[in-house]
Amino acid sequence: MLLNMRDLLAVANKHYFAVPAFNTSSNMLLKGTMETCERLQAPVIIAIHPDELKFIGDSFLPMVIDLANRTTVPVAINLDHGANFEQVVHAISLGFTSVMIDASSLPLEENIAITKKVVEAAHAANVSVEGELGTIGTADDYGEKTSKKIIYTEVEDAVRFTKETGCDTLAVAIGTAHGLYPKDVKPKLALDRLQEIKAAVSVPLVLHGGSGNPDEEIAQSVKYGINKINISSDIKDAFYKKCREVLKDEGLREPNAIYPECVKASNAVVEHKIRLFNDDDKVKYYYGEA
Ligand SMILES: [Zn+2]
Repeated sequence: MLLNMRDLLAVANKHYFAVPAFNTSSNMLLKGTMETCERLQAPVIIAIHPDELKFIGDSFLPMVIDLANRTTVPVAINLDHGANFEQVVHAISLGFTSVMIDASSLPLEENIAITKKVVEAAHAANVSVEGELGTIGTADDYGEKTSKKIIYTEVEDAVRFTKETGCDTLAVAIGTAHGLYPKDVKPKLALDRLQEIKAAVSVPLVLHGGSGNPDEEIAQSVKYGINKINISSDIKDAFYKKCREVLKDEGLREPNAIYPECVKASNAVVEHKIRLFNDDDKVKYYYGEA
């Protein structure tokens, strides 16, 4: 069942769970993720970053939409970190049901202006919008080229931003970073700040860079009202670690001989995250049983 993220997360907000947004820029990661979500009856967000879309191509979208239409599991398809208006409109034209506009590196006034413009265009197409406030750090050399430093989201900024832009969800910076942390770095979430923001704004809150934070903190953030958590590095890391191992057998050539074990490895991470976010067995809430 294909939904936009506003409708998907309204249920999560009501029932205190977080829907994982898995970055799936290959059909193997997509296939494994969808099968695991069906098995666990777990609502899901398929996230595709503009760089990932550029690599896999626009034709990937019809496949994601088809899979979403064939399952009873609620699915939203979200453009992850749209950088400008053009990228967002392109995504809407492809059938994304949700878009993120990340203008968090701009001054607040400019972030509000561009996010508001995106909201007006997206809502006309029943597409929901995720904005970002504060700066989520970068833990390694992959992914978002923002700041190594985390700039925490201010509560009053969050109130003003959501009110003036009309965005449907808000990504907050409370101490996570994109990518995988170096071994000597121990990430720590500012859960007190999260509680303050949650009490002050009504839209569902989003945590980016959720790979690598201690499980207890993530579980706690879900209890305190995070409704979407982005996971990218963790599933890819598991998938390709297994690939390297499997490919030591140099005689292997067929995709159906190489990939099943790799999909199984990423699926184990997908399952772990779903249970950690309290997202398992929540499909029923979308069909009027609660
Ligand atoms: Zn992110």
